[in-house]
Amino acid sequence: MSVENRLSLEPIQQKSLTELVAQRLIALLSSGALGPGDKLPPERELAKQLEVGRTTVREALKLLTLSGVLDARRGDGTYVRQEFTSFLSQQFHWPVLLSAQEVDEIVEVRNALEVKAARLAAERATPEEIERIGVCRQLLQIEERDLELETELDLQFHHAIAEASHNELLSSLMHSLQDVLHQYIALAGQMTDVVDTTAREHLAIYDAIAARDPDAAEKAMVEHLTISKTLILKMVR
Ligand SMILES: [Zn+2]
Repeated sequence: MSVENRLSLEPIQQKSLTELVAQRLIALLSSGALGPGDKLPPERELAKQLEVGRTTVREALKLLTLSGVLDARRGDGTYVRQEFTSFLSQQFHWPVLLSAQEVDEIVEVRNALEVKAARLAAERATPEEIERIGVCRQLLQIEERDLELETELDLQFHHAIAEASHNELLSSLMHSLQDVLHQYIALAGQMTDVVDTTAREHLAIYDAIAARDPDAAEKAMVEHLTISKTLILKMVR
């Protein structure tokens, strides 16, 4: 991140808020509350419910329109595309079983990157970034089990922490590992009740970062990675 970017906090906040609103809407869609072909409530209604500005809602809708989830019809409104049901599954890499050695390697890399990221985030995160980590954490507490959605939201949480480390290389390394991480998290997600456990572990990480306690953040992240590793190894061994 350049010095200029770090100094102008407003656009960063806008961007993450927009992403969060987009995630909320996706969660709403995949919960079945809104289906393919349905019309979305008007912008002002969404803004009121989400307690954000209309500009943010508009940006989020634009993002989802660009990614092919929604269809904006001029002078009419915004609709869920008929093809929406295939959207998530197109993006989703269904978990394949990893070998025990692959699991070990992934966990070693995650430990190297994400434990450091958690420490740095506790030291360097802006209030907006802490808020974003908090929202990503809350989003994971969804009522119905949905492996695709859970995996995405879990991943978002970890990316939010990497970005809050203010080490751009670390954050882009995390992004380049996207597919591997996706695979890994989806595999862990197949274990029953893992969402409750994950939500608790994510809360501990978030609390430590929000309290600006690098040692506690490191400890919580190590614990989180160790628990998911144990779960996965039970499956593959
Ligand atoms: Zn996680």
